[in-house]
Amino acid sequence: KNCCRMVILGSTKVGKTAIVSRFLNGRFDEEKYTPTIEDFHRKLYSIKGDVYQLDILDTSGNHPFPAMRRLSILTGDVFILVFSLDNRDSFQEVQRLKQQIIETKSCLKNKTKENIDVPLVICGNKGDREFYREVQKEEIEQLVAGDEQCAYFEISAKRNTNVDQMFQTLFTMAKLP
Ligand code: GDP
Ligand code: MG
Repeated sequence: KNCCRMVILGSTKVGKTAIVSRFLNGRFDEEKYTPTIEDFHRKLYSIKGDVYQLDILDTSGNHPFPAMRRLSILTGDVFILVFSLDNRDSFQEVQRLKQQIIETKSCLKNKTKENIDVPLVICGNKGDREFYREVQKEEIEQLVAGDEQCAYFEISAKRNTNVDQMFQTLFTMAKLP
């Protein structure tokens, strides 16, 4: 399968759109905040004569309809769950989202929650705002401990810290070229 659908989820204003923009355009737009409803990006790669398609779905934090979120989970192959290191509520939202993904996918694939393989990366964004930090590294690492399908990165879309590494790890987990 030469096509992969990536879905970015997380509370509003945690930096989902900034991360996508960093990855796709190598840019960070200071001050700019545009509420996303749902943005869709398509990237085509050609590797050794084969074409690969990466679709990126950038979602809004507060889905107007829960069904919309459920649909984006159902159709996603890999997931980026974003919270902001300076916002505890957004971290709790990521934990809820992770549960929802596992439940939805295990139901869809008719597997138990333990055997479900959905590559996902949890991102603590705004690492540059260390002074305002509300979530400690230890508790986040606890959340991903022992889960091979789940990685954690502390990133900053603003400073461009760890963003490429995060995407690279997700590609490797998803066995993408
Ligand atoms: P979204 O609602 O999750 O898509 O969040 P946005 O990407 O629109 O970002 C929300 C706000 O946070 C914007 O004002 C961004 O400029 C800011 N922001 C995003 N990433 C970072 C970051 O890494 N560091 C800092 N300091 N601000 C960020
Ligand atoms: Mg957005």
